[in-house]
Amino acid sequence: MTAKPVTIENVRQARISIADFIRHTPLVKSASLSRLTGTAVHLKLETLQATGAFKLRGATNKLRSLSAEELQRGVVCCSTGNHGRAVAMAAKQLGVSAVVCMSSLVPAIKVDAIKALGADVRIVGSTQDEADVEVERLVGEDGRVNVSPFDDPHVIAGQGTIGLELLEDLPHIDTVIVPLSGGGLICGIALALKAHVDVRVIGVSMDRGAAMYESCRAGQLVPVAEEASLADSLTGGIGADNQYTFPMARELVDDMILVTEDEIAAGMKHALREERMVVEGGGAVSIAALLAGKVHSPGKHVACVISGNNVDIDKLLRICA
Ligand SMILES: *Cc1c(COP(=O)(O)O)cnc(C)c1O
Repeated sequence: MTAKPVTIENVRQARISIADFIRHTPLVKSASLSRLTGTAVHLKLETLQATGAFKLRGATNKLRSLSAEELQRGVVCCSTGNHGRAVAMAAKQLGVSAVVCMSSLVPAIKVDAIKALGADVRIVGSTQDEADVEVERLVGEDGRVNVSPFDDPHVIAGQGTIGLELLEDLPHIDTVIVPLSGGGLICGIALALKAHVDVRVIGVSMDRGAAMYESCRAGQLVPVAEEASLADSLTGGIGADNQYTFPMARELVDDMILVTEDEIAAGMKHALREERMVVEGGGAVSIAALLAGKVHSPGKHVACVISGNNVDIDKLLRICA
């Protein structure tokens, strides 16, 4: 079975559908990164989205696409934290019941935020795969709708609205550097940008269990071991039955870069010290790749997606000390 591809029209529709729930986040020039790299580097601040991460875009677009009958049955998702928070918030705004299944690797700050939004939280096992078993059970037994964190056309189109905003704010954009895990974020952005401009799309993952990177290299889906990382929001595989983001990433992503734990820490530190911004590990990998000199010959108009800010402040301060 081949899945119907996601189109630029889906992204345009998503923009309209989520407009009342989503912030058009600022794009700000980074003086320090521009100086360091000798080119104009801009930061796309998804840290300023209502849930502190971009995932609210995709989750809201997905929930807005459901029928009244589906909404009545409620939604369920598996999450490393930010997606769960986004689903919980979108569900709350639309008056829908939500269950969020997470592994014990998810930081307490994220679990607490999801509970505060009124979602039913289930901590299951120590990997995303184990949490996913509970999701499948709730789909089968309760008829809840599974909201995938990345492998869903409405989720990808929702994240793609970032690409439309980048085009408006930086019309001559030629390079975009995007945190990469399951690939919903990068595929949506690449789809939106490449429909309009010639742009190099670079994904950055942590070197611990980079499922999309390994799968693209192998030309087939490769399961990876899940390990703890400073970039906790980038952990997890891309799904053994991946339908959308793997083929899209192979077609639309030009380069993939891996960063180490030390490089991620340096990215978080740079964000706090130089940019005066709280950024979580997964959100700082785009900065980390630039600082580590791993982005070869970036163009003249570079955007780094800063994807989230949900990090425990004491932990961030320890990293920066
Ligand atoms: C989910 C997430 C990512 C990765 O997004 P994918 O669509 O899974 O590639 C990056 N940064 C943050 C902060 C996230 O929450």
